[in-house]
Amino acid sequence: MDDQIAFSNDDLPGTTSQPVWRVLAVDDDADFQRATAFALSELELLGGRIELIQAFSCREASMLLAKHHDIALVLLDVVMETEDAGLRLIKALREVIGNRETRVVMLTGEPGLAPAHEVMRDYDINDYWTKSELSAERLLTVLTAAVRGYAQLRAVASARRGLQMIVESSNALFCSKNTRELSAKILSEITSLLNLQTEGIVCVRADEGDATAEPNARIVSASGRFFDSIDANLDVLQPQVAAAVRQCLQAQQTLRLSDCTVLFFPRFQAGSDYACYIDSARALNDTELELLKVFSASISRGLYNVALFSRLEEMAYQDDLLKIPNRNALIRMLEMTLKSEAKDQRVLVLIDIDNFSGANTAFGTGYGDFILGLVAKKLRDAFTPEVLIARVRDDLFAILGPQTQVNAADVVALFRRHKRPYELGQVHSLSSVTMHLADFTGSASVALQDALLTLKQAKRLGHDQHGVYDPRLQGAHAESYRMLLALRDAVEAGQISVELQPQIDLKTRRVTGVEALARWRKADGKMVPPLSFIPLAEATGYILPLGDLLMRLALQAAKQLADAGYAHIRVAVNVSAPQLLQHDFIERFNSHLQAAGVLPEQIEVEITESVAMRTFDTVCEKLRALRAMGVEVAIDDFGTGFSSLSYLRLLPADRLKIDRSFVLEIGEVSDQQMIAEAVIQIAARVGMQVIAEGVETQQQADWILGHGCRQAQGYLFAKPMACAELLNWLKDWPERSA
Ligand code: C2E
Ligand code: MG
Ligand code: MG
Repeated sequence: MDDQIAFSNDDLPGTTSQPVWRVLAVDDDADFQRATAFALSELELLGGRIELIQAFSCREASMLLAKHHDIALVLLDVVMETEDAGLRLIKALREVIGNRETRVVMLTGEPGLAPAHEVMRDYDINDYWTKSELSAERLLTVLTAAVRGYAQLRAVASARRGLQMIVESSNALFCSKNTRELSAKILSEITSLLNLQTEGIVCVRADEGDATAEPNARIVSASGRFFDSIDANLDVLQPQVAAAVRQCLQAQQTLRLSDCTVLFFPRFQAGSDYACYIDSARALNDTELELLKVFSASISRGLYNVALFSRLEEMAYQDDLLKIPNRNALIRMLEMTLKSEAKDQRVLVLIDIDNFSGANTAFGTGYGDFILGLVAKKLRDAFTPEVLIARVRDDLFAILGPQTQVNAADVVALFRRHKRPYELGQVHSLSSVTMHLADFTGSASVALQDALLTLKQAKRLGHDQHGVYDPRLQGAHAESYRMLLALRDAVEAGQISVELQPQIDLKTRRVTGVEALARWRKADGKMVPPLSFIPLAEATGYILPLGDLLMRLALQAAKQLADAGYAHIRVAVNVSAPQLLQHDFIERFNSHLQAAGVLPEQIEVEITESVAMRTFDTVCEKLRALRAMGVEVAIDDFGTGFSSLSYLRLLPADRLKIDRSFVLEIGEVSDQQMIAEAVIQIAARVGMQVIAEGVETQQQADWILGHGCRQAQGYLFAKPMACAELLNWLKDWPERSA
């Protein structure tokens, strides 16, 4: 522990301020009191002078002892008011007043009255003399021994108290999470430790590394008259204070001066070089310095912890490139703001550099980084520290603060220059969105998403767009947007799979095919129905990558079926309009087939009736190509699209799927009105097969078979299931269906 801190004594003056030793003489003998006063006058002991206090009775003495806690020595006549008055006084001093440091020398006029050995021990008396033995010279020896004993006891007691405090305050130091809080604690603990009205500052060396330069430092914390210098550098301090701190940092050593002490905490122990200036108005004594030395070890550890903690914080909450808060920091602050009373007066502004990615590509990422640095600096300089400036991602920045300070027009104006639209090198405009938090209820990440959505919508109109979040308009969009983001994450997290639902030949009970159906299982196990995410994916174009994935999954299942000896079981894949209409759909489909090692004859493509009829010619062309490869085509949800018979005749398809809603009618409405029957007849007329969807009851199955539809799919036979489950199901199917 000794090497924690090196105390330099170079500047220590020879003496500290002179101590005063108080001596209390208790005797009812006026002559003796007078003689004592004479003997002690102008006497110097251990570098201090004597101050004599006199009491003529034990009562008076006990009052003085209660009042003065720093009496070094009591010269006490044994016999006073009563025979044991002196002994009672000592008992009160030790046990009632609790003073164990004041030394007691007993005096008696009569040698015969010497107290017994036990009395000396039990009453904590330090010396015993008859008055006649006490020559002036001996008195000096007696006093010197007693005062020395007193001084030592005082030092030990104060060290003990100090050590106790150090132990207690160390815990407090360890709990600090930032330098400012820790430094404030350090200063207040030192004040209590030294039991002095100290004022001081804690500073951290600001200039890195250069040992030859004159050190400068930032003031992290300050107390008393230094308070106003917090956050400033040393130049704001009185020259001699700044000089002392500099000397300490330069010498990398603790300084001990006549009126102050500057503790040094080296970088390797504290994370950075710290100096703690303590204005004690006098030089500290050895005990005090010894205590500070011990305490310094705790301080170093506390500072180091804080440095470590802030490094971790930095890693989690700081943008690596720009060294400003990142998205995490924004979310954390937004979360706090949304919960705070100030919420309604706060505003979030997001700004986005128009065509940043274009500039990045054209001029290189170095240039892009330069622009980002410019934006960050301009924003940071424009606001007080109360306003959070964060980089959310790429070229998207957030400004969160009071609406009196933050407004989009001013923010954008920061980047406009006279006669030139924007002062951002080759980047010429910004777009923004403003969200008044008063308008928002919800979590921080949803607030950010909603603000982003508004920004995205604003940017659709072009450059230099400035939107304001509108809670009424956004609700529905925001929900879809969130779902779309979640869907992308789900794809990446492998939460999307397909399940297969068997299709049965009602006559032979054989399984002729299976339909692959998309499944989204969220991390918490909840399923999202395809009808809520497929239409969204279709509307946003995300169906292209998603459809590719679903296709691959379906083809993998087909391969597994074939490998298990079920190559005759057709796998139906649902294909959406945007997918089918891709110019290279056929090539993509082909390469998926090859990659999976599946024959085209094992696959069927399902498109809905409405898709088939919408862009009829193109669809026909694609379907023809598919059929030419050997792939079968089914028209899904048939009966809902009102296709004309003449078009249907031209449609290159193998099978019509009777929509589930028409199967549901079976048994409910009369045969004449049943669309299912009409569909079966139409299929027969155009030469297509027909399959009924959503068959749930035996009655429905009997009815459709009776009306000429041989194939069916529905819960009556099986629900959609994962491929492995299907393989088991298939093994048992012949017995169950027999
Ligand atoms: P769909 O293509 O008409 O699929 C048939 C739907 O009926 C499936 O619903 C299936 O689980 C359900 N179903 C089958 N038998 C019964 C039954 O007996 N009773 C009842 N109540 N329902 C039955 P699911 O899986 O919810 O899919 C809904 C729709 O989502 C599909 O209708 C299809 O339009 C779409 N979809 C599903 N997977 C995909 C896919 O991979 N790609 C595309 N583009 N769309 C898909
Ligand atoms: Mg389908
Ligand atoms: Mg269907």
